[in-house]
Amino acid sequence: MIPGSFAYHRPTSVREAVGLLAQLGEDGRALAGGHSLIPMMKLRLASPANLVDLAGIAELKGIRAEGGDVVIGAMTTQHEIIGSDVLASKLPILRETSLQIADPQVRYLGTLGGNVANGDPGNDMPAVMMCLGATYQVMGKNGERRIAARRFYQGAYFTALESGDVLTAVRIPVPVAGHGYAYEKLKRKIGDYATAAAAVVLTMKAGKVETCSIGLTNVAETPLWAEEAAKMLLGSSLDAATVKRAVAAAETITAPASDARGPAAYRTKMAGVMLTRALSAALSRARG
Ligand SMILES: Cc1cc2nc3c(=O)[nH]c(=O)nc-3n(C[C@H](O)[C@H](O)[C@H](O)COP(=O)(O)OP(=O)(O)OC[C@H]3O[C@@H](n4cnc5c(N)ncnc54)[C@H](O)[C@@H]3O)c2cc1C
Repeated sequence: MIPGSFAYHRPTSVREAVGLLAQLGEDGRALAGGHSLIPMMKLRLASPANLVDLAGIAELKGIRAEGGDVVIGAMTTQHEIIGSDVLASKLPILRETSLQIADPQVRYLGTLGGNVANGDPGNDMPAVMMCLGATYQVMGKNGERRIAARRFYQGAYFTALESGDVLTAVRIPVPVAGHGYAYEKLKRKIGDYATAAAAVVLTMKAGKVETCSIGLTNVAETPLWAEEAAKMLLGSSLDAATVKRAVAAAETITAPASDARGPAAYRTKMAGVMLTRALSAALSRARG
């Protein structure tokens, strides 16, 4: 289908984009890579009268280390994440996740900012950002604010973003060197959204789990941070009995829809299977 007609705007600064979006209100929508928004417009699930394209704003691009954080500009593409040396050394889970998003054509244009701002529970990066304790930098009509990824998602396609806001960057605290990580995703075919997926970042000390964080994708209306399940693993050697209890705890916070990817009970179980695999892979990569 062909989208409805719209006016096209191409600001060259964040300030200009925020001004335009604030002025347009509900009639305006930010456009990043367009790989979620344009399909929705074609299906007439979205009909913005104005698109404010962020592609001409240089300050929204790039990946840099800053103190103990890595800061990734919102318009950084998934393809650029895969090729980044900074991320390969400091946050390899982002490469692993990006490689499981869609296909190379989508990844050339799809951006990190669009993926996390979209609010679709099927997007892969939000659960990873919750797992990592990331913060979103947002510029709005009243200036800049920072919102923790763990507080950002309020419902399907419903986030803490307000009319006029532009998500400018994602700020991620770098986990300690030698941390274990994994993103495990079950999908029906290449290019599919997750039936269920799990992100794990952990550190080990003398063979025991010292820190652990878990995120889950597409098994509720929002991405999930499985705080209690992760706590249950602390101090353990990730023995089978403890993992089983923690996985069961993670499964209890899921509430997936029954859809073409399977009935709800199956998707909950698959979240558990993905988490079990992610814990095992993270352990095998961790030092200490
Ligand atoms: C065939 C196909 C398969 C896909 N499979 C997957 C998959 O497996 N996993 C996955 O995670 N994604 C998948 N995607 C989605 C893809 O990753 C998108 O690129 C991504 O979800 C959105 O990024 P975008 O840059 O294209 O954003 P857009 O589509 O341009 O925007 C998405 C939404 O976010 C808003 N937005 C974008 N940037 C900003 C910003 N900086 N500030 C404020 N609001 C903003 C827009 O207004 C819009 O509402 C798939 C897409 C396709 C077409």
